[in-house]
Amino acid sequence: MQSNAVTQTENLTAAIQRIDANHHWHPFTDTAALNSKGARVIVRGEGVYVWDSEGNRIIDGMAGLWCVNMGYGRKELIDAAKQQLDELPYYNHFFQTTTTPAAVLAQEIASVTPGDLNHIFFANSGSEAVDTLIRMIRHYWAVEGKPEKNVLIGRKNAYHGSTIGGTSLGGMGAMHKQGGPYLPNIEHIDQPYWYGEAGDLDEEAFGLKAARALEEKILEVGPEKVAAFIGEPIQGAGGVIVPPASYWPEIQRICRKYDILLAADEVICGFGRTGSWFGSQTFGIEPDLMSMAKGLSSGYMPISAVAVGDRVANCLIEKGGEFFHGFTYSGHPVAAAVAVANIRLMKQEKVVDYVADDIGPYFQQQLRAVLADQPLTGHIEGAGLVAGIALVKDREAKQFFADEGTVGTLCRDHCFENGLIMRAVGDRMVLSPPLVISRKEVDELCAKVRKCFDLTLDSVRTQGL
Ligand SMILES: *Cc1c(COP(=O)(O)O)cnc(C)c1O
Repeated sequence: MQSNAVTQTENLTAAIQRIDANHHWHPFTDTAALNSKGARVIVRGEGVYVWDSEGNRIIDGMAGLWCVNMGYGRKELIDAAKQQLDELPYYNHFFQTTTTPAAVLAQEIASVTPGDLNHIFFANSGSEAVDTLIRMIRHYWAVEGKPEKNVLIGRKNAYHGSTIGGTSLGGMGAMHKQGGPYLPNIEHIDQPYWYGEAGDLDEEAFGLKAARALEEKILEVGPEKVAAFIGEPIQGAGGVIVPPASYWPEIQRICRKYDILLAADEVICGFGRTGSWFGSQTFGIEPDLMSMAKGLSSGYMPISAVAVGDRVANCLIEKGGEFFHGFTYSGHPVAAAVAVANIRLMKQEKVVDYVADDIGPYFQQQLRAVLADQPLTGHIEGAGLVAGIALVKDREAKQFFADEGTVGTLCRDHCFENGLIMRAVGDRMVLSPPLVISRKEVDELCAKVRKCFDLTLDSVRTQGL
């Protein structure tokens, strides 16, 4: 055991950094590299801003980790948690019992999901929701008398969480190199990344080609063996990859043709991010199942859910008997109470309309305007309040940097130093600010993005990259 006593000469930031370095192992982090410089300590949040322990105000261009959609410090959400903690901090939903927040939340979610996605199964994280999808889908086909129909098809560079199930279904090469072997009977097709991978094809043609990779894979595996296709409407952690408009309708057509379930991982796109309640609506599809998390509670409490359509739900409920699946905290009353308050607040403030008609288009337009003549900016894609920007060495020749990730990391570090949180995914910079951001705050965000891109360009030139 190391001594954690705070010495009198040490300031608070240094003390927390030291304790953190000694004991706290961070997720998705090179811990040795972090510990050598010390983690930034975030102490407070309000609206679209967070403050660190040194008093710096930082504009949060990522809404935490794609989740603080209603912004920091919302009294409605805080009060809902406090009230529920006072009344009933915990009870489970295993023992022939329910709690009011879980029942009401299931109804609230069903009130905003598209189609007949009316049956809600709760979990605590996006990864658990994805694991639930996997088990539920395979169990569904078994109950239907087709246990051999158990192959799941996902995509390369997709992110579905970091449990064994989520990692298996996801298509992140770096993740697959660690901690395997992964689940059998999972296949991956190419992602619909038009700017990076389409060659000479226009968007429409490339979208169809990328979707038809699914049909090829289904025929290769055998339709009688394929259970479902699962994808994020817009790939988030993969760098905000927005598929061409032709992609999702074609994916849906192919799934229906071969009787394959379509599951949308709405963990980022859900709850208004793209200007609809769900990304599936933005792209005009009706999936059979959806996973959701992050924006469900605006990140105030950990909670996730799977919304299931009548086909799968009625089969499993009527013919499946007991579904041996669930979590101690499935539908946790405090988390559920916060999520209920969050959805009601979103409805009351008409946040989805605000993203669709006002702040989303404004953000997309301002970002393009401010970066129009910025030499590192290869291509900007996005929808509503999410955007991905490809950093390139030469925009005319569409030439990427040789050592992918170096320039992205440089840019991320300039943002860090300049009061802006923007994430790097390789050489793509991504933004996903709180949905309640104002026009003035969008202007500030975009000005900071421009400044940090210019600083990055200076670094690129100095270092001869
Ligand atoms: C974040 C994310 C997950 C995983 O959610 P956790 O709560 O981190 O487990 C799954 N799918 C998508 C699309 C995500 O963005």
